[in-house]
Amino acid sequence: MINVENIRQQFPILFQEVNDEPLVYLDNAATTQKPQAVLDKLAYYYEHDNANVHRGVHTLAERATKEYEAAREKVRRLIGANETAEILFTRGTTTSLNWVAKSYGDLAVGAGDEIVISYMEHHSNIIPWQQLAQRKGAVLKYIDITADGYLDLENAKKQITDKTKIVSIAHVSNVLGVINPISELTVLAHQHGAIMVVDGAQAVPHMPVNVQELDADFYAFSGHKMCGPTGIGVLYGKRALLEKMEPVEFGGEMIDFVNLQDSTWKELPWKFEAGTPNIAGAIALGAAVDYLTDIGLENIHQHEADLVAYVLPKLQAIEGLTVYGPQKIEDHTGVIAFNLEGLHPHDVATALDMEGVAVRAGHHCAQPLLKYIDVPATARASFYLYNTKADADRLIEAILATKEFFQHGPI
Ligand code: PMP
Repeated sequence: MINVENIRQQFPILFQEVNDEPLVYLDNAATTQKPQAVLDKLAYYYEHDNANVHRGVHTLAERATKEYEAAREKVRRLIGANETAEILFTRGTTTSLNWVAKSYGDLAVGAGDEIVISYMEHHSNIIPWQQLAQRKGAVLKYIDITADGYLDLENAKKQITDKTKIVSIAHVSNVLGVINPISELTVLAHQHGAIMVVDGAQAVPHMPVNVQELDADFYAFSGHKMCGPTGIGVLYGKRALLEKMEPVEFGGEMIDFVNLQDSTWKELPWKFEAGTPNIAGAIALGAAVDYLTDIGLENIHQHEADLVAYVLPKLQAIEGLTVYGPQKIEDHTGVIAFNLEGLHPHDVATALDMEGVAVRAGHHCAQPLLKYIDVPATARASFYLYNTKADADRLIEAILATKEFFQHGPI
């Protein structure tokens, strides 16, 4: 059990009014708020340790380097990677997936080869593969979704064949809120000699993830969705693959020797991190990892499951409201996309904002999914560790008030 009232005290941004109502922040799938410990770490770094890393022998440079590499070790431990050489700092999930598609893709994919993703992917896990397929004359295939909102494993077995070189799937959907069976997909991919890439943007912040247990070959996630700053993210990759791959960017920090016509690269993980990295971001991400692991990812997962068990039946009971994704409480994470009959989700989100309730509306960077389920857009409430049942009540009240307003006008 987590003490949510204590947790809330750590997030100064939550204590404000929006449109004269206390803020209820339910847009955590887009980005999460930052606890004081993370804000303090950022300020402390700039006030005391700011220097470039891996260069310079002076004391500040040594301190900055030590903290930067300590953050890498914290991330390694969080996701159960074998060694820090397998943890690359990137700008976020999008950059991580682009690196895999560019570097591993260029190495391993040829004309006629197949790349398999699913209809529920975020644009970040679609477009890099489209680009790769176009560069190489490869084929991009999509795994179906069942009518009740799950990835269709039977269809996955058909789509993944001996021609498949890469399978890339979201661990948790940012629209359907469903957890995908990554271990089963990894086994399938490996049986056919393909590698398994996981978009973990909506998983790592919310539940225990162990990349070795999943046997994923690459695993991508973003700092800003897990209480860390924007502009920092992670790409985990198995050493054997990273060793074979070329860096995506070239320049300072990643080189060993530079000659006039050619150069050699540093060892892992630095060969991928060209230029001055987001040092403060990485260090503050380390603080976010400390924060989340002190509370416990299992506890956070349970807290969100309790919130879903509380709010999902209330949403399902509202006449004219459709919840997308699994309807079973135990299969739905804290990402809840919905629509109110006859109302555009943008109007719903605007009306909820008038009540101080922040939700997202739109296509959630998943246009192929929305086309597949045949809805132009949805509203989306997404919960995190600092949300309460009172927040869920405010959401429900605001939805009911919105419905009333659009049906009968102001009371
Ligand atoms: N994948 C998923 C499933 C996401 O939810 C997001 C963020 N909405 C991304 C990828 C992209 O993350 P970022 O914008 O931090 O690169």
